[in-house]
Amino acid sequence: MKKLLYQPAAWLLAGLSLAAPLAASAQKKPAAPVRKTTSAGNALSAIKESDIKRDLYALGGDHFRGREGGTLDELKASVWLAEQIRAIGLQPAGDDGTYFQWFHLQRTRLTKASRMSIGTHQLRPNQDALVFAPTNFSVNAPLVYVGTGTTSEMAKVDVKGKAVALVFSGNPAADMSFRRYLTQVMRDKSAELMKAGAVAVVFVSDARAQAVYEHWGHIYERGRYGLPGDANTKVVDTAPIMLLPQSAKDWVQQAGQQLTVDLKVESFLYPSVNIVAKMPGTDAQLKKEHVLFSTHQDHDGVRAAVAGDSIYNGADDNATGCAALLAIMRAFKQQPARRSALFVYHGAEERGLLGSRYYSDKPTVPKESIVAVLNAEMMGRNDPDSAALLGSIAPHRNSSDLVSTALAANQAGPNFKLDTEWDKATHPEGWYFRSDHLPYARLGIPAVMYTSVLHADYHTPRDEPGRIDYPKLTRMTNWMYLTGWAVANRTAAPAREPGFKLER
Ligand SMILES: [Zn+2]
Repeated sequence: MKKLLYQPAAWLLAGLSLAAPLAASAQKKPAAPVRKTTSAGNALSAIKESDIKRDLYALGGDHFRGREGGTLDELKASVWLAEQIRAIGLQPAGDDGTYFQWFHLQRTRLTKASRMSIGTHQLRPNQDALVFAPTNFSVNAPLVYVGTGTTSEMAKVDVKGKAVALVFSGNPAADMSFRRYLTQVMRDKSAELMKAGAVAVVFVSDARAQAVYEHWGHIYERGRYGLPGDANTKVVDTAPIMLLPQSAKDWVQQAGQQLTVDLKVESFLYPSVNIVAKMPGTDAQLKKEHVLFSTHQDHDGVRAAVAGDSIYNGADDNATGCAALLAIMRAFKQQPARRSALFVYHGAEERGLLGSRYYSDKPTVPKESIVAVLNAEMMGRNDPDSAALLGSIAPHRNSSDLVSTALAANQAGPNFKLDTEWDKATHPEGWYFRSDHLPYARLGIPAVMYTSVLHADYHTPRDEPGRIDYPKLTRMTNWMYLTGWAVANRTAAPAREPGFKLER
């Protein structure tokens, strides 16, 4: 999901000709332990921009309809990926001798039978009014408008037994994004009003919140997703908290209106899948350990059209990571390392890191055998010479040892100028917490994320294959590969940061 990048150094080009011999002779493998990132004997030359570009156009094209987690489109894309992996020649490492690890999502949403109205205005839930938690709740109560809900405005009304309407207003605190701020304000204000006896709370967007309203609409319509048992998908019967568009401000203030709400919730299981493949290591002992290359294959699917285009292709997010991992597999197939290389494409990342939460909880290899996680997330946009390595500075750094290896690989390879802003705990986007390395880091496994960070096309139908910087993506891929190659060949696994504790 972010940004940064590289430059093809002369030594790198030279390295191509030094690259490993063909597969057959490569199988018999490195004489001595490889200690340096730039060690001879790697198969960097197997990583080709032309392969990456071809794979990205195939996966990020309209054919797979944006690969939405839990839909047939995600499953189709996953089968396509497995077929590429089979052709490359890696072993299946999922369930039952296949490349797949299937799992269930729990999906909870308002049913189509849900109804809402204010006065004479019929409101379609999550289209004309966002409902924050899917809740089984019915109420018919007078609506009282309290402006922006200041203390003096509130002093004039008794909200007991009433639905309360108020305009959202405020400025975000410096240390959080506007969306998080909005959520926080609505949660706090609602709690206060409910405590005073309100039976429902109706926020009306101000100009600033309107943009969030438009963005959230497509998310709330779909309901909530989690793994079975997650608190966010539990069916509740709490009083509803709603958000109306800015356009409602005029009519919502009219006196004497009644709010009528009849909300019904449904909750059901939904399928998703991780794709898992392995290139066994060459060392009798170290092959039992795994360097895990991570990415996600899903994106946002088909949603509201923007400029006539309704397919959210997710070319950068995250067909870049998918194409990069295929390229890295070709290199490991040509020249295996001492440790085993494990590749996991996580399903349903966009639904809340669900595939990586599932895999890290139920890995198909022993959990203790995973020595490092290198996660690829949005690697093909923004400045061609800059990139970011998330998990590289405190408090997110859980292995200085792994970070040093990755930084050395950058210097030896693409030599990107590294942006550390996005890794800071104070960054408003909280980027570190938004991709698949996170569940592994929570378990204490050394983990980093390679990314070229956010851009204006993020999560829009404009995130298309034609907008990717392929030379940059190839250098990002080289960087991940060189890091993984070094980690897979060194004698000691990356050391974990003593006393590391992940806190937001
Ligand atoms: Zn992503």
